[in-house]
Amino acid sequence: MPTVSIKECSEYDKNKIKKLVLESLKEIKFDLKKYRNKKILLKPNLLGPFEPKEAITTHPIFMQAVAEIFKKVTNKITIADSSDQAYGRDDKVLETTGMNQVAKKLKIKTEMFKAKNIIFLKSEKNQILKQVAIQSEIKNFDLIVNMPKLKTHMLTGLTGAIKNIFGLVPSYYKREYHIKGNTPKKFSSILVDIYNVIQPKLNIIDGIVALEGDGPSRAGKPIKINVILTSDNAIASDLIAAKILGFENVLTNQFALERNLIDKKDIKVIGEIKLKNFEKPSHIKQVVAPFVAGLFQKLVTKRPYVNKNCKKCLTCLKACPAKAISLKNNNIFINKNKCILCYCCSELCPYNAIELKRSWLGKKLINMHDKMFKKVKNGRRK
Ligand code: SF4
Ligand code: SF4
Repeated sequence: MPTVSIKECSEYDKNKIKKLVLESLKEIKFDLKKYRNKKILLKPNLLGPFEPKEAITTHPIFMQAVAEIFKKVTNKITIADSSDQAYGRDDKVLETTGMNQVAKKLKIKTEMFKAKNIIFLKSEKNQILKQVAIQSEIKNFDLIVNMPKLKTHMLTGLTGAIKNIFGLVPSYYKREYHIKGNTPKKFSSILVDIYNVIQPKLNIIDGIVALEGDGPSRAGKPIKINVILTSDNAIASDLIAAKILGFENVLTNQFALERNLIDKKDIKVIGEIKLKNFEKPSHIKQVVAPFVAGLFQKLVTKRPYVNKNCKKCLTCLKACPAKAISLKNNNIFINKNKCILCYCCSELCPYNAIELKRSWLGKKLINMHDKMFKKVKNGRRK
């Protein structure tokens, strides 16, 4: 039976987190002793060189608390994620996110997996990817501890335990899967395919300070949610996270349920589900009414625009899976016709220089739509 343990925790206090996670491990019947001298991969969300206070990456104190729990049974612990070649500076990611400091204190390893190390895994349940490219380094570990940061995501709605596994896809294939998954639905379906081949036995979500609004990067806003979720099942933990945050439409959850990968009724929840006030991504709020969807959706969808903060670092150019970004006359240019609206450029820009905005026409249309929709809703109420 998939089990999720919910703990309230209002600060990044290492000892408090450690105590709560230990309690949760007992509650979900996770046998720590089974991993004596085993090789453990602690897989945080290390999207890029972001500081802990930005709430984009798993907090280093959260990581330290969990690493100390495993240190009791083994020294073979590695904190690792896959490298995004767009940055080209893996050491900077590990340093800025605070992971190197944790590793140094505890005398454990950190690693950014190399893009060239690839294995292909298959699952009969997959719907889009016949085979999934995964970092081959995972074969070296006896246990993957999935440690996502709880955040909104402009494509999937929410990034939790399922989306965090995308970090184990080598850099080149991340881009390929974005191209294949060129709509929020297709991309979310691909994420569920990836989950089918990698199902971490332990998921510990850092939701003490989460990211609301237009996550998963600097366009989102840190918000205290004060929650730690621990589960033996990634889908179960994401379903409960969505409930806590009042999210109805998380596409990865929806597809996992539609594919019968889990039955909601089977999930055992230990702890209280307290609904939190949480701002959804603007894309989710702006999904237009079904009767105008086909007509307007494309026009009202937010697009990436480069603002004056741009330092011409070219991270976005290297990250864009659709090769829609180029440098022209020393300015960053985005080709709208090539852009597949994956938002990777906005996620990865280190200077918050890519804003997601609507065109003038898009804004007019959404205003008209909102007024119309309000009238229809009010009419129905009468
Ligand atoms: S938009 Fe951001 S990522 Fe792209 S070149 Fe400018 S600063 Fe770098
Ligand atoms: S321009 Fe940005 S949003 Fe468009 S495809 Fe490239 S990375 Fe994705």
